[in-house]
Order: sequence, then C-alpha cells, then structure tokens
Amino acid sequence: MFAMIDLRSDTTTQPSEGMRRRMASAPVGDDVFGDDPTVNALQERVANLAGKDAALLLPSGTQSNLVALLSHCQRGEEYLVGQDYHTYLYEAGGAAVFGSIQPQPIPVSADGTLDLELVQSLIKPDDPHFALSKLLVLENTHNGKVLGLDYMAQASALAQRHGLSLHLDGARIFNAATELGVELKEIVGDVDSVSICFSKGLGAPVGSLLCGSDEFIAAAKRWRKMAGGGLRQAGVLAAAIDYALDHHVDRLKSDHANAKRIAEAVSGLDAVTLLSNQTNMVFIELADEDTGAQFGQFLAERGINALGGKRMRLVAHLGISEQDTDAVIASLEEYFTL
Ligand SMILES: *Cc1c(COP(=O)(O)O)cnc(C)c1O
Repeated sequence: MFAMIDLRSDTTTQPSEGMRRRMASAPVGDDVFGDDPTVNALQERVANLAGKDAALLLPSGTQSNLVALLSHCQRGEEYLVGQDYHTYLYEAGGAAVFGSIQPQPIPVSADGTLDLELVQSLIKPDDPHFALSKLLVLENTHNGKVLGLDYMAQASALAQRHGLSLHLDGARIFNAATELGVELKEIVGDVDSVSICFSKGLGAPVGSLLCGSDEFIAAAKRWRKMAGGGLRQAGVLAAAIDYALDHHVDRLKSDHANAKRIAEAVSGLDAVTLLSNQTNMVFIELADEDTGAQFGQFLAERGINALGGKRMRLVAHLGISEQDTDAVIASLEEYFTL
C-alpha cells in the first residue's frame, strides 16, 4: 500500500508527532471526579472561545448532539431540524430512541439554511394534539456551506419569539469562522448551545466540546454519564484538542484554498459538473454511476481515495498538501480530457 491522498473526509486526519507528544506528556486525573487538569483547562478554554459559561468534553460529535437534544427537550417534545442535517439524518434516530423526542424535519435550502418562514409555519401551537415545539437545530457548516452572521441572528430572533431554544451543530464551525474571518464567539453569540468536533479538519483523534450555560452543561453532564460518555484520564484526549487549537485552526484557510483550486479545475472540465464548493468541501457530479465508479477506480490507482459515485465529495484537510492537490487536479484533468 502506498500513501493515500484521502479525500473521503476530514475525519481521516492523523494525529501529528507534535500532537502525540502533547498527549503523552499531559497531566491527567479522573475526569468523572472532575480531577483532570488538562480536561478542565480545555473546557474553560473552549467555553471562552465560544463566549459561553461552560463546556463539556464528549467522545464524539454524535454523542455531543444527542446529549444537547436530551438536555434541551423532554419526552414528547419536538425539535425542528433540517432533514439533511446530521442531527436528524446521520445519528441513527438517537433523539427519538433515547429521548422520545420527536423531530420535525424541514427541507434544507441550497445554501444550507432552513427557510425561516417555513420553520415558523411548522412551530406547533400549544394544543394537546401536538408535540411541544421546544428546540430549533441548525448546522454550520452544512456540506461545507457557511451560514452567515445575519442568518444566524434572524434564526435566533425567530427562536426567541417562539420560546424555542437554539442548538447549533457546529461540527465544522471553525471552518465557518475561518471563511467569515470572524471569531468563533461572533457566530455562536446567539445560540443557546453549540457542539464542536475536533476530530475532523482540526486533526485530533477523538473528541467534541459542547458549550452552553452553566445550567445547560450541568444537565448535559448527567446525560453524558448516562450515555456512557464519562471518561477517566481523558486529559490525553483533551491535550490533543488543545494542541489542535494552538496549531490547526489558522491553517484551515489552506484547506479552503486547496478545495477552491480543485473546484476551479472542475469548472474547466465539460464532463464534470461542480455542484458546490465552500470551505474545505467540493461536491461534483459525473455523467452517471458507471462513470463515477470508473473514475473512482482511476483515482484509486493513483493513490487517491474519494467517496461517491455519480455524485462525489472531495474534502481537503490537514493530510492533503498543496502537492497532493496538484495530483488530484492532474488526475481530474487527465481522466476528463482524454
Ligand atoms: C461529523 C459530524 C457530526 C458528528 O460526528 P462524530 O463522527 O460522531 O464525531 C455531527 N454533525 C456534523 C455536521 C458532522 O459532520
């Protein structure tokens, strides 16, 4: 096996030497007792970055979102959510299974937002026929697409008018902050809670941070324990995330630049359609499934790994250098101009 250029996802990033060293030397304690100094410091650091009272380390983004939903909603209550968003589509129905929380799925607009008039029309009146609408969930970025500051403010105002809480699945929120050129707290200032993944483009092996008010995080801590997410010497993981914050945030812009170069190359090819490109993601469409499979094979022979068939997702990240990007572009051009 030769080294792969792995465009399937930014979750394929490997912890660097420096990150491993930081993990190896981290002071640790039993975090279920609140004794882990590295976890405590990280939680405080991330809470400050997000402008929230408190933050909680969880093993995965899925558990972080689940715990957020369980903390916001009781049994028989409802969350309004994009039907292509992770918290509805890709978390195995956890909110329904573990929380008896009913989703109200909403079609996602082309720019990754939810139409706020549509959202408003789907908020239920207080009537015993209906589940109680309790929470609005957004996702930023969604398929690499950034939800703008104005939109976030409008969504928050809508939620407030209707007495809903607002949770943001900010798995890739640092990509959004990078693209918008703003601090994290500017994007999440109006949300009640935000979940941030560090195991994607930020390159930590494990971990998400859920941020919110002291009261919310206290509730989240109980749900995390129930979900089996209370960890012991978790400082080794927190250290990796701390390292990522020091070294891997500013470099996200080079991922965005690499993705953009791939998108620009695709734009120059007649046989491939560029569906979207924002932040670190490029979505392309090929003539049909067969072409997709053949092109996937062609890429694999050149050490390039990509997800999809007719529709393909190409993700730039920490493990994709400028030279790798050149190789991807060369392969695209070679295959589609033959
Ligand atoms: C990856 C991802 C998550 C959760 O990820 P885990 O793989 O469980 O860590 C949540 N939301 C979005 C949008 C994601 O991309």
